[in-house]
Amino acid sequence: MQEKTDVVIVGAGIAGLVAARELGRSGLRVTVLEARERLGGRVWTDERLGRPLEIGGTWVHWVQPHVWAEITRHGLPVTRGPRPEEAYWLAGDEVRTGSLDAFMELIDPGMRRLMAGTMRAIPRPDMPTAAPGIGALDGATVQEKLDELDLPVEERNANEAAWVGHLNAPLDQAGFSSALRWTAATAGSWHLMHEASAVFRLAGGTRALVSAIAAETRADIRTSCPVERIGHGPGGAVVTTAGGAEIAAERVVVTLPQNILPDLALSPALPEDKLAAGRERTASQGVKVWIRVRGPVAPFFAYSSAHHPLSVVRTEFLGEDDAVLVSFGADSRRISPHDRDAVQKALRVWRDDLEVLEVTGHDWMADPRSGETWLIHRPHQLTRHRDRQRSAEGVVHFAGSDHADLWPGFIDGAIESGLRTAADVAAAAGRTTGATEPPRT
Ligand SMILES: Cc1cc2nc3c(=O)[nH]c(=O)nc-3n(C[C@H](O)[C@H](O)[C@H](O)COP(=O)(O)OP(=O)(O)OC[C@H]3O[C@@H](n4cnc5c(N)ncnc54)[C@H](O)[C@@H]3O)c2cc1C
Repeated sequence: MQEKTDVVIVGAGIAGLVAARELGRSGLRVTVLEARERLGGRVWTDERLGRPLEIGGTWVHWVQPHVWAEITRHGLPVTRGPRPEEAYWLAGDEVRTGSLDAFMELIDPGMRRLMAGTMRAIPRPDMPTAAPGIGALDGATVQEKLDELDLPVEERNANEAAWVGHLNAPLDQAGFSSALRWTAATAGSWHLMHEASAVFRLAGGTRALVSAIAAETRADIRTSCPVERIGHGPGGAVVTTAGGAEIAAERVVVTLPQNILPDLALSPALPEDKLAAGRERTASQGVKVWIRVRGPVAPFFAYSSAHHPLSVVRTEFLGEDDAVLVSFGADSRRISPHDRDAVQKALRVWRDDLEVLEVTGHDWMADPRSGETWLIHRPHQLTRHRDRQRSAEGVVHFAGSDHADLWPGFIDGAIESGLRTAADVAAAAGRTTGATEPPRT
């Protein structure tokens, strides 16, 4: 028998859960179908290496208005990792050591020069394609722009490694517009951009945020329920799950990441220009590795270069006889987050005194429910594809951090997008998301 509801939401990541909450408040009946057996999508707090580790998204900041509003609304405490006491970086093959401040001074000239035109290119980060010059800049890669600076080798390695940490991508594939958007969202300050993307985290983990949003949601949320097909027309849609269940709905919200949207069967099919970015794939294709080393270890961070399997590593938890490090590399094919020996070898670039006890992570690139890490565009994807990615196709709407305005690729962007799409769907259904009407029966 076919079930009936007002709205089906495909995916219970942050965008899907926020959209479900808002649509429920407007009085619509909402069913959320999530393929995985857990909620949260690309945020996932999991007990590993003896700690609650963020396998996916982690860092939040008060310059990210949507996530900060949720943090305030739910009273979620925020904390940070230990302040680094030592820093390691490379000048070619030579290891340099110093303080965090010394490293920041080293990369400052390159960062300033690279990002000097940010606020001319994107004067309104909430309208990233509004200024006329963005089209040409969107065609450039971060590597091309860095190469133009002709930096000395030590500065070059350090700047490149810092950008790999941010962009999770080979820099010759990462669109310069992504660097511009992050920096525009912090009013042109690379220091603030750096802090916004890599320092403060939720004390209770992102699972506290996921639980808080889910607890406010009136929707019927079903996990382990992958959607296989969506048939749609002017009168509504029928969503079919892998288990063969059919749910008829007036509207559907699809929240799949860009890289896996082409895998979902829609009838009629989605237009090619909506799928183009997914077919090209994101520039981001990197890896996040958690590493437990024998302690005690003084808190440190280390940057290598864009060409090393791990470009960035730093202490995130300190124990009495161990420490847990978090690390990032540009290409998930260069190192597995489960290969202890490869990680030990990668750390030797800077330090041969660290004994790796255990490693863990998740291959988000190979995961068919994500196919990507956090969104970084390839050249031209922002200006050519983004608007089409998020426009509705009849009764099928789209949400997700990947096509947010302000902080795409962040938790903040997922919330922004969930809010916006919920408002669109509610308006199409003659409701507003500000209302608190009882659900239709
Ligand atoms: C390693 C890593 C580190 C990150 N670090 C940060 C960070 O520090 N700070 C930050 O703000 N952001 C970070 N991010 C990005 C952030 O986590 C994401 O941008 C955000 O969580 C995306 O939310 P979303 O709802 O748009 O997409 P998703 O979370 O991907 O949600 C989509 C949902 O759809 C489900 N789904 C897929 N296919 C189907 C199907 N066929 N049927 C039903 N359900 C389906 C998925 O299982 C998933 O739950 C990171 C991401 C990763 C992977």
